Amino acid sequence: MALIVAGKETDRARLVERLNFFDEIGAGFLSRDEMRKPAAVPSASPAPVSPGASGPPDISKGPGLDALRERILVCRKCGLAEGRTLAVPGEGNPRAELMFVGEGPGHDEDVQGRPFVGRAGQLLTKIISAMSFDRSEVFITNIVKCRPPGNRVPRSDEVETCAPYLLDQIRAIRPRVIVTLGKSSADFFFPDAPLAMTALRGSFRTWNDIPVMPTFHPSYLVRNEGNIGLKKMVWDDMRKVMALLAEK
Ligand code: URA
Repeated sequence: MALIVAGKETDRARLVERLNFFDEIGAGFLSRDEMRKPAAVPSASPAPVSPGASGPPDISKGPGLDALRERILVCRKCGLAEGRTLAVPGEGNPRAELMFVGEGPGHDEDVQGRPFVGRAGQLLTKIISAMSFDRSEVFITNIVKCRPPGNRVPRSDEVETCAPYLLDQIRAIRPRVIVTLGKSSADFFFPDAPLAMTALRGSFRTWNDIPVMPTFHPSYLVRNEGNIGLKKMVWDDMRKVMALLAEK
């Protein structure tokens, strides 16, 4: 009984988050039905993209998620370890169909050791709820696992040093879809796509046979709070992700 009540409360909390997000993006353009279930989006299937000169990395073998977490927590392979409070391996469902990849931990994440828990994280949580998922059902992580000083963009040597962790996480989880949040994350997967986020977002690209949807970073949305158009674009991108996930 308690479980059923808890389940109902979770459902209600999810619906509230979902409606809050729709409110934020001025969801007058959505019908009641659209708010409650993902709308079918035509041509959600990813268009293949040719890999870079050296091809995508081999993600066919590597350690499990728990072992990776332990390694990340004590990692001192690059200078970012000097300034961190806690490393932030990532969290969520080890069998997640959907994986979100951000840039790197910020202040709140560094203190709590959890990804996307600050302001941008709260917005990401709303977006995830609006997609009818709970945070615990998806997997959320970053390109680099330790906070760059002053939240600067991670340097290429730091990204390169940390990359095996992300690649092993993807191998262990085998998500059906990856959403990259922001330019650093999109660049990690598609280093040969010399495109601005506005051109990159909105279309699936294939990486190691996994459809990847680049979209704006939630902190960019937070910084441009009044720009409803940005949120609508992110919502369009997420509807495509939902439509692809709905294909069995
Ligand atoms: N920004 C990111 O890219 N990742 C986080 O975990 C938090 C903010």
